[in-house]
Amino acid sequence: MVFKLENSVNQRILVPNNYGVELFVKREDAIHPFISGNKYRKLKYNIEGAKRLGFKKLLTFGGAFSNHIAAVAYAGKMFDFETIGVIRGEELRSKIKENSTLSFAASCGMRFEFVSREAYRHKHSESFLTALRHFYNDFYLLPEGGTNTLAVKGCEEILNAGDVDFDFVCSAVGTGGTISGLINSSKSRQQVLGFPALKGDFLQEDISKFANKKNWSLILDYHFGGYAKINIALIDFINQFKKDHDIALDPVYTGKMMYGIFDLIKKGYFPDKSKILVIHTGGLQGIIGMNKTLKQKNWPLIE
Ligand SMILES: *Cc1c(COP(=O)(O)O)cnc(C)c1O
Repeated sequence: MVFKLENSVNQRILVPNNYGVELFVKREDAIHPFISGNKYRKLKYNIEGAKRLGFKKLLTFGGAFSNHIAAVAYAGKMFDFETIGVIRGEELRSKIKENSTLSFAASCGMRFEFVSREAYRHKHSESFLTALRHFYNDFYLLPEGGTNTLAVKGCEEILNAGDVDFDFVCSAVGTGGTISGLINSSKSRQQVLGFPALKGDFLQEDISKFANKKNWSLILDYHFGGYAKINIALIDFINQFKKDHDIALDPVYTGKMMYGIFDLIKKGYFPDKSKILVIHTGGLQGIIGMNKTLKQKNWPLIE
């Protein structure tokens, strides 16, 4: 099966600073016209595995604007799997058309199972999975956010031989699969910095399960209050960044990370002449969803 993902380009970004720090953005967001960034990497070996094992269906979980749901739906269409998305929030059942992520997934042929927030919390429990198996028979299960051993293996391919001269590799962090892959393929003299998009201290442990070295740390100061929480300063930053560099950042992951990196550069966190590689993990779904919320609040939109 052909599931080929090319190396993406490292684009230099000019960030005026007194320390001679240089910044490059790895354009994983440009990896594919519909499915950008790390979710596609995370699917690669899972799709291959599911095919090899003879599965015909993929089942996974996600919220209303999940990049992972969109990626699974598209990969299913491309590689000839039925796809089932278990979606958090029963109220979305009647809103598929209005929701860009769900309508995209539906156009790829994904079927949805809408569940209450309460039921969704127990999504990985045996009884919930047994009920799903009863209904849908045999399926290949992809966890929420797509992180498992094969996903980490896919993310090990983000870095390549041309990246060994960077001193720092930075990534946004959700479930920790992407940063684990980056750690595994980094050199031990490189430092891998993760910027969690949500609060909580479970990540340290989750990443340690997958990571093969200790050359990493998490920067916990830029979650902006939690997952998908946002303020005007962040919106302004994302819009200015787009104007200056012609690169869109999403408000859930990459915007917060980049804000953090700019702030750390300004504060002199990085040693003089550091070369930093920032992974742009994609995440365009987040912009449309966030703008809906911002419009309701009468806040400035992400351009
Ligand atoms: C899902 C996602 C992440 C988080 O990836 P994990 O492997 O779950 O840590 C980061 N950036 C973007 C744009 C994402 O969509």
